[in-house]
Amino acid sequence: MSVTAESLRRSGSYQLRKPTEATVLRPANLPELRKSLSPNSSYARPFRPRGAGSSATDCATAALGTVIDMTAFDQIVNIDAYNDTVVVQAGVRIGQLSRALADQGLELAGCHDLVNRTVGGSIAGGCVGPGIANDGAFFASQVISVRMVTADGRLLQVSAQQKNLLNAVRLSYGMLGIIYEAVLRVRPIMPFSVTHRRCTLHQFAKAADSLSRTDVGIKFYLMPFRDRVYLDLRRYSADAAASSTLPWRLKDWGESTVLPSVFKSINKVVPVSGIRYRMIDEISKLTQGIVNNRLVKTGSNATANAAQSDGKVRQLNYSTWVFPATDFSIVVQAYVDFCVQIQRENDFRCDMPTVGYRLSRDTSALLSPSFDEPMFALSAVSTQSKGWEDFTIDLAGFAQHWGGGAFFNQTRGLAPEHAGNLYGSRLGFFRKIRRQLDPDNRLMNPFLSQYFL
Ligand SMILES: Cc1cc2nc3c(=O)[nH]c(=O)nc-3n(C[C@H](O)[C@H](O)[C@H](O)COP(=O)(O)OP(=O)(O)OC[C@H]3O[C@@H](n4cnc5c(N)ncnc54)[C@H](O)[C@@H]3O)c2cc1C
Repeated sequence: MSVTAESLRRSGSYQLRKPTEATVLRPANLPELRKSLSPNSSYARPFRPRGAGSSATDCATAALGTVIDMTAFDQIVNIDAYNDTVVVQAGVRIGQLSRALADQGLELAGCHDLVNRTVGGSIAGGCVGPGIANDGAFFASQVISVRMVTADGRLLQVSAQQKNLLNAVRLSYGMLGIIYEAVLRVRPIMPFSVTHRRCTLHQFAKAADSLSRTDVGIKFYLMPFRDRVYLDLRRYSADAAASSTLPWRLKDWGESTVLPSVFKSINKVVPVSGIRYRMIDEISKLTQGIVNNRLVKTGSNATANAAQSDGKVRQLNYSTWVFPATDFSIVVQAYVDFCVQIQRENDFRCDMPTVGYRLSRDTSALLSPSFDEPMFALSAVSTQSKGWEDFTIDLAGFAQHWGGGAFFNQTRGLAPEHAGNLYGSRLGFFRKIRRQLDPDNRLMNPFLSQYFL
């Protein structure tokens, strides 16, 4: 910068702008939301919508632009028990919605445990759980229609009749517009039984293929350094009718509040990594044994989803990859070898167990990672930040080598070329729709641009 320009900036006529602070807006209603996005809005672009902000990537950030926090859109507009639908605003939390549905004997079709996520973030982002049978792999598959505000502030309703557009809106990561209301399909509460199994990695790998072909809802906790896998298997069962939310609340509290807090403390006070991780793994094993195996025997999506607290989103590091079910028996063993190798070479390992789900084949979203076949999701989770970034890069290298699929809001280190290979012509089709709805790229940030421009 020339001396004249520099002195002009210091003269008071020009302000030195603070570097990279995003403006965060929290519109209270539809007119405010439209105004903030209108072509003559005074707010800087890009605009990025945000729900609970529990994503692991930069998909909901806008360093020089404007983040639109949708949590004030928190009304359940109408529950129609006759037609099994609910009209709900985008900022409603899944726990809040599940409790209101349960009061009327209804539930969401999918089980989406953990975290206080929003309806909008779960439609626009990847949101999976231990779904039973062909309930749909994603929260978004329950969407019948949405109302959105487009990139330039116009209103747009996308209904079931606009099948291609609706499929693009599901898992669209806020690039096609900001969803402010949705109609979801719901159903009468369907009780399930829960069985728990503990096995070695080898036994799990052997069973993975047959598990992938069953109708059972599967969530598992993998402990790579203890050769242990804990399975939570869910099956619909009329006999499982009576179940309260208390065991599920305790389970949620144990897994997502107690464990991370205890591990954070241990990481601070126990300097010797060998002793530290032995303690951490013992506590994980105990928690699995007590919290999961003893507490939770029956349930329903209503009880499991309603058990989520409506508190703040817990800040955990995680990165999720999905792998074809047909290869999973080999991939899961390779994953354990990878974790052991990384610890040996870099002295980093995740302190929390790796969490996994089986995902049924789901073609309801254009960017569905299980569009072609059933998959298994693997989520590496850690409370530690030191060494985490390097780990996610190595994990991405491992996952891409094994043909791993991704969610743009949960998968760290995904290479653009790999995304191109994964989604092929579906990515091209999505880009075309995106260009039509947002020709000036007002909803694009640098993170998303690398995949979608
Ligand atoms: C501790 C923890 C546990 C987790 N467990 C799971 C799990 O078991 N299963 C799972 O699938 N995920 C899990 N996640 C990931 C995450 O919770 C989900 O991906 C969730 O769906 C994101 O919801 P959100 O409201 O936080 O959305 P955000 O993170 O705020 O946003 C997600 C994406 O949607 C866009 N978006 C948000 N709101 C709107 C809107 N109104 N209109 C248009 N676009 C919008 C954002 O721009 C972003 O691209 C976990 C995360 C954490 C931190």
